[in-house]
Amino acid sequence: MTAHRILFIVLDGISDRPCPELGNRTPLQAALTPVLDRIARDGVCGIMDTIAPGIRPGSDTAHLSLLGYDPEKYYTGRGPLEAEGCGIRMEPGMIGFRCNYATLDDQGRVADRRAGRVHGTETLSNAIQEGVDLSSLGIEFFFRSGAGHRAALAFRGEGLGVAVTSNDPKKEGVPPLPFEPRDGDEADRKTAQALREFVRQAEGILRDHPFNASRREKGLLPANTVLIRGAGRMGHFESFSTKHGLSGKVISAAALIAGIGSAIGLTRVDVPGTTGSVNTDLAAKVRAAREALSTSDFVLVNIKGADEAGHDGDARAKMAFIEKIDLALAPLAGLPGTLIVVCADHSTPCSVKDHSADPVPLVISGEGARVDRVTAFDEVSCAEGGLHRIRGLSLMPILLDLVNRSPKFGA
Ligand code: ZN
Ligand code: ZN
Repeated sequence: MTAHRILFIVLDGISDRPCPELGNRTPLQAALTPVLDRIARDGVCGIMDTIAPGIRPGSDTAHLSLLGYDPEKYYTGRGPLEAEGCGIRMEPGMIGFRCNYATLDDQGRVADRRAGRVHGTETLSNAIQEGVDLSSLGIEFFFRSGAGHRAALAFRGEGLGVAVTSNDPKKEGVPPLPFEPRDGDEADRKTAQALREFVRQAEGILRDHPFNASRREKGLLPANTVLIRGAGRMGHFESFSTKHGLSGKVISAAALIAGIGSAIGLTRVDVPGTTGSVNTDLAAKVRAAREALSTSDFVLVNIKGADEAGHDGDARAKMAFIEKIDLALAPLAGLPGTLIVVCADHSTPCSVKDHSADPVPLVISGEGARVDRVTAFDEVSCAEGGLHRIRGLSLMPILLDLVNRSPKFGA
C-alpha cells in the first residue's frame, strides 16, 4: 500500500540543546511524548539541516526550504510575506513591510512599542486605509491588521526601492527614528518619503479616533502611531501545485507562515482560537487539519508555542508545551492513506533564546515508508534513524517519491 496524501506538521523551534535544569536533557527528551514516540516507532527517522549545516534559519527561510523553495533564490525579506499573511494580495514587485501599532507620549517619544499589547485594531486599520492618501506620490497602498498589535503595509507604484531604514528605535523613551534611504538611490529615497508621509497622515487619523479615546478612558495606552520595518520586494513564486503536482492547504496562526503558504498558492485555513502562542487552541487546529486532509493532497500545519518558550529561555515551559502538543496530536497519528511528517523548522535552544543551526529531528510515517529502529521522537534518538542527516530542500522530493509522484530521472 502507498499513502496518497501528506500531513506535514512543523513544530516550530521544538528542538533544543541539553538543558541543565532538565538534567542535561533537551525539553523534547525530557517531555512525556507517547504519541510522537509512536509515530517515530512506526516510521523512518532522521535529523535535518533545514537550510544547510551551520546556517541559523529564520522561520520564513526554513519553511520555504521545507516546502521545496530554495530560500537563496526565493527569499526577499519578511515584510512581503508578513503582508501576504495579513491578507494583502502581494503581486510580484510590490513592497511589503511589517508594522506595529505603538504608543507615543505627549513629547513624541515611544512610550510602548506594542501600544499596551492592543488587539482588535481592524477599525483603526480601516480608517487608515480610507483616510491616508499617497496618490500625489503615485503610490497605491494597502494596510491591514495582523494578530494583536501587529499590522502590515504594502506599496504598489513605479520607482520604489527597498533599501530604507526603519522608524522603530527598538526601545522606549526615545522618539521614532526618521525613515532614510540606506544609500543615495532615488528609488529608496522615494520609498522613505512615502513612509514618512504615510506615518504623518496615519498619526493624524489615530490621534482623534474613537477607538483610542475609549482606550484612554479605560486607562489603556492609545495606538497612536505605526512603527514600520522589514522592507522587502515581493518575488515571483511558482505555485506549489505546479511545482509538486499536489493541491494543498496551510494552517498556521503565525501570519508569516500563513503568508508563505498563501504566496505559493496553498489555501489558507484560519482556525478561530489559535494564537501562535502557548495558549493556542491545539484541538481546534488538529480538527481543522483532519478536515483539510479530506479534500487535499497536502496539508501544512505549523504549531508555534515551543519556539516562544525557547525565545523566553524557559526549558520547563517548553517541555510542558511539548507534552500539550503530543496529547493534541493523538487524532492525527495512524490516519489511513496518509503520510505523516513531523519536524521542526529550526532549533530554538533555551540557552540561546534564539534560533540555532542545530539540526532538527524528523520522522516520516505511513503506508510505504520504511520502519527503522528508532522508538522515540527527539534530537538524539532520531539521529540514529534511516533517513540519517538530510537538508530541508531534500524533504519534498523524498515525500513525493513516497506518494509515488516523483518524476523519474533517466530511462
Ligand atoms: Zn520557526
Ligand atoms: Zn523563533
